[in-house]
Amino acid sequence: MAAPSIAMEVNCQSNFKLSKGEKKSLRKQNKARHTLLRHEGIEAVSYSTQSLVVANGGLGNGVSRKQLLPAFEKCGLVEALLMPPNKPYSFVRYKTTEESQNAYVSLNGKEIVDDLGQKVILYLNFVEKVQWKELGLQALPPGLTVVEEIISSEEEKMLLELINWTEDINNQNCQKSLKHRRVKHFGYEFHYENNNVDKDKPLLEGLPDICDSFLEKWLAEGYIKHKPDQLTINQYEPGQGIPAHIDTHSAFEGEIVSLSLGSEVVMDFKHPDGVTVQVMLPRRSLLVMTGESRYLWTHGITPRKFDTVQASEHYKSGIITSDIGELTLKKREIRTSFTFRKVRHTPCTCSYSLVCDSQRKETPPSFPESDREASQLEQEHVHRVYEEIAGHFSSTRHTPWPHIVEFLKALPDGSIVADVGCGNGKYLGVNHELYMIGCDRSKSLVDICRERRFQAVVCDALAVPVRSGACDACISIAVVHHFATPVLFYSSFCPPIPAALASLCSTPCFLILGTLLLSDDVLFPHSASYQRTSGKGWQECRAHLLSAI
Ligand SMILES: [Zn+2]
Repeated sequence: MAAPSIAMEVNCQSNFKLSKGEKKSLRKQNKARHTLLRHEGIEAVSYSTQSLVVANGGLGNGVSRKQLLPAFEKCGLVEALLMPPNKPYSFVRYKTTEESQNAYVSLNGKEIVDDLGQKVILYLNFVEKVQWKELGLQALPPGLTVVEEIISSEEEKMLLELINWTEDINNQNCQKSLKHRRVKHFGYEFHYENNNVDKDKPLLEGLPDICDSFLEKWLAEGYIKHKPDQLTINQYEPGQGIPAHIDTHSAFEGEIVSLSLGSEVVMDFKHPDGVTVQVMLPRRSLLVMTGESRYLWTHGITPRKFDTVQASEHYKSGIITSDIGELTLKKREIRTSFTFRKVRHTPCTCSYSLVCDSQRKETPPSFPESDREASQLEQEHVHRVYEEIAGHFSSTRHTPWPHIVEFLKALPDGSIVADVGCGNGKYLGVNHELYMIGCDRSKSLVDICRERRFQAVVCDALAVPVRSGACDACISIAVVHHFATPVLFYSSFCPPIPAALASLCSTPCFLILGTLLLSDDVLFPHSASYQRTSGKGWQECRAHLLSAI
């Protein structure tokens, strides 16, 4: 029999030659193939290849790596066993087609015992390639590399001893103790107010000599292509982190490198479309970010004391997959990072204009002419900004405003309250006797709410997915001034155009804070609060506000 025709042969065998059991198995195998194609877009091929998709052999149906791998290893040298999280299938790739054929013959339609001791039957099909990206399987962000063991333990020690956190008499190197970490700058000071450097004012002292020799070496060895002239040293205690951010395009060139010392850490990378990849940065490794990973993906470190990491001994750098069979917890230790960047002196011309401050069009403010324009305006100047600054925004907004706390505490126990534009959820936990639902247009902020175990959804403040009259009260704090048009604004506030906010509560019981635009030329910086007991109707509320101007 010609080697590459097993699958075809199995599938084309005349059904009379098969026993009843074999026919059933064949039907199930075909069914598995169709399901994978229909639901997952995984296309099986009718000839043998090195890779197989294993239906029923996935983490999603309780089969762990520990159970599956030995079975496949008996058939040949397994190059990779890829088990996507929560999926009822996996992929196995062999070194040769012969080995994958072996596996096909020995394991297709065969039983395996899952983690709960139940038997599952595996159905195998050949695939041309293992579909990483299409399946949302994780790969490193493009342009990112992690070079392991770039320095020795002795060199690490030397670098760590170089930093004198305790005394910096002239504060020459701009030491700062930020809220979440200690930081020191060399070459140029980095200003957190505008996330930029003062390019005309290099610091008196440049980069430490020892760093210079490392940089020269990395350049010569090809790990980096440009010599940095700015260094930021960050020190993180366990539990500390850095909010997700993209280094300002106009501030630094396209290659940013970061040396991890003292301890490993897991860094989160996030693509604007929501894909998140956790990358392990081992101790003494160099993270090199270029291209897409530097310009388009945000990176940050979640403040926590433990990281979820791969369990295998041989695993060092790279992505943390969500493979439950391979995960374990690792306690964080003090990590010091040396981040080297090259200050940019010409505008950035990257191909990621959406996130590029050099390419941001500065148009004079004007009223949008259509809903479409208004929505674009909001998208660009409100939603995108909040997505980008969510981490920082959240970390600077801890203290609830007393007026709002008072309002929430005065509500009857058990009231259902919507917080429209809830941000990081700072009001959602103010009164535990209320049932509060938050919503915000920024996914990143809603993620923060969820981490804090609040109920929150992503939505537009003018299309809140809550049934009219379902709430007893509603707050919307510092939101309305973000709406782009008077139409949108009025529609949210006035009864003649019943809109999201107005219709949420059964009786007017609102707290709206923001700079309210009540007529074409009057800005009304005020708060408007209408308690349930006031019994004021919408017309009265509006009249009250207008009379106060
Ligand atoms: Zn750019």
